Amino acid sequence: MQINIPRGTQDILPGEVEKWQYIEKKLKEICDRFQYNEIRTPIFEHTELFLRSVGDTTDIVQKEMYTFEDRGERSLTLRPEGTASVVRSFVENKMHGYASQPIKLYYLGPMFRYERPQAGRFRQFVQFGVEAIGSNDPAIDAEVMALAYTVYESMGLSKLKLVVNSLGDKESRTAHRDALIGHFKPSIGEFCRDCQNRLEKNPMRILDCKKDREHPLMKTAPSILEYLNEDSRQYFEKVQKYLTALNIPFVVDSNLVRGLDYYKHTAFEIMSEAEGFGAITTLCGGGRYDGLTEDIGGPAAPGIGFAMSIERLLASLKAENIELPLDKQVDVYLVSLGEEAKDYTVGLLNTLRKAGLSAERDYLNRKIKAQFKAADRIHAKYVAVLGEDELQNNKINVKSLETGEQKEIEIAKLVDALKDFAAF
Ligand code: ATP
Ligand code: MG
Repeated sequence: MQINIPRGTQDILPGEVEKWQYIEKKLKEICDRFQYNEIRTPIFEHTELFLRSVGDTTDIVQKEMYTFEDRGERSLTLRPEGTASVVRSFVENKMHGYASQPIKLYYLGPMFRYERPQAGRFRQFVQFGVEAIGSNDPAIDAEVMALAYTVYESMGLSKLKLVVNSLGDKESRTAHRDALIGHFKPSIGEFCRDCQNRLEKNPMRILDCKKDREHPLMKTAPSILEYLNEDSRQYFEKVQKYLTALNIPFVVDSNLVRGLDYYKHTAFEIMSEAEGFGAITTLCGGGRYDGLTEDIGGPAAPGIGFAMSIERLLASLKAENIELPLDKQVDVYLVSLGEEAKDYTVGLLNTLRKAGLSAERDYLNRKIKAQFKAADRIHAKYVAVLGEDELQNNKINVKSLETGEQKEIEIAKLVDALKDFAAF
């Protein structure tokens, strides 16, 4: 019986993988410009880490984790997101003591969630994310949002919507929490079981419920913005002022909540407004968190970050009909005629590759016409043709497949010719 790929995962084949490589390179460039450094953490962590940081009222912890026991009877979990690991590493490596502050990190790698697979939702997906830990300057909130926005913009996307909200500080949230409980409690029987559980534990998460989205009480729920105290209000104003200074368009939406307990002040999402993008419009989500470092046994440190998946980025590129400028050309294809010439191309190919050129030859004993076809298929810029006669005279025939121009040159000058055809 044939064995197929697990549900919710995908193979990324040549032809598609070049897009991923392009995006990965671009992400690294952008992080360099914004001065975020890469961190690589393990694919699995102690389950306890996610229970404590992501929180046990979330969908991730309640329904989506790939948890297993290893042979040493430890409970481990394939990471469902990146922030927990980064913050664990921050604490474990005592980064709060580093000379250079704040700590600005980015990560890129696979995450695992047991979800119902659908467009834009996989069981293994690749997240890119950043975390800035150690500063509560609202300017860094704006910087983090600007970085996320720049990623999408630099790929050529234009139908973007940055939605921002403030969840306030602890005092504001407590006041809002009481108001939410008062609002939902009398009719909580009309809501789903998850929401009923959330009412006392984390009523803000009710606003994020996917099942009860249409309930009339959702629209009339008290807005967090009305409960912000003076500090929180000023913080939010600064964030908006800095976004404006950075020339980043945004809208404020008081219904945007990120459900985790540790979120405070800034919360944001970037959506795609491209037609036909589908039901899931969120490309990226993030926000400011507090107390996360303490939850996993470290000193207090404020942080802000976001995460986006490459899968949704690719989907948004498709929705906006954007072709990434991929350069997958091969410099030269060696075409040979006759046994001796064929043998000779083994060494010649090696010389070309050692000189830094991308080069290929025939391995299927093809006729000359088929070799030209093969060169075409891999988008070779040049074809270098070697027959018995040329070989006798230490010559080779170089043809540009772009212009059709041909030149016979000395074999010893092939590398130079390929680097600057016009000079020959
Ligand atoms: P959603 O409401 O869509 O389930 P989420 O709140 O679970 O999103 P986060 O945990 O904030 O998402 O993850 C940040 C980003 O990671 C999302 O905005 C999305 O781009 C991406 N993402 C999350 N889950 C998946 C998935 N299963 N497949 C692909 N991308 C995902
Ligand atoms: Mg989810």
